[in-house]
Amino acid sequence: MYGLKDERWIKNADQIGMKGKKVILTFDDGPSRQLNAILDVLKEKKVPAVFFWQSKILHAQRPWKRVIQEGHEIGSHAHNHKNLTSLTKGQQYKQIKMSVEVLQKITGTNVKFFRPPFGQYNEDTMNLLKTMGLTPVMWEITSYDWKHKSFPGVIIRNVVDHLKEGAIILLHEVEQTLFVLPELIDRIRAKGYEFTFL
Ligand SMILES: [Zn+2]
Repeated sequence: MYGLKDERWIKNADQIGMKGKKVILTFDDGPSRQLNAILDVLKEKKVPAVFFWQSKILHAQRPWKRVIQEGHEIGSHAHNHKNLTSLTKGQQYKQIKMSVEVLQKITGTNVKFFRPPFGQYNEDTMNLLKTMGLTPVMWEITSYDWKHKSFPGVIIRNVVDHLKEGAIILLHEVEQTLFVLPELIDRIRAKGYEFTFL
């Protein structure tokens, strides 16, 4: 099963009542060593974003305070990036529950959004999210930034060529994405889009 076709997942801001020429930047797999520099770019460009974090790598010394203070949102990307569909319902529960608990304990924020590792989930995942009051969030545009370390310009094209109203854009907290981020933001704005968040 693949989440991009499932209407239960939020992939577009229109689904949560945000109309107009707006897009949402999301960064998966952090908090990474690139986070501070990514936050610098977002701050300079005045762009909000949503960060889906793996709780296993959330150490207290990561700049999570900036993320909150600078108006970004933190969601759960489970605990240690296991493919949830390979786990029992009990194991999935632990992955999701632990991630929410760690994120809330360290950052003090109320975690509302969840994105599954690899975008993979099954009906157990859906039932658990519902029980735990988490909103499932996928994406509409993928940058494939993880595979374009050598040619980061492709990341910009993958996004800008597919822009549409309300689109949630998938990025990762990696070096090549940081490298193209200022230009990516400028090119999205040049096409008349504003940035919003969940
Ligand atoms: Zn991931």
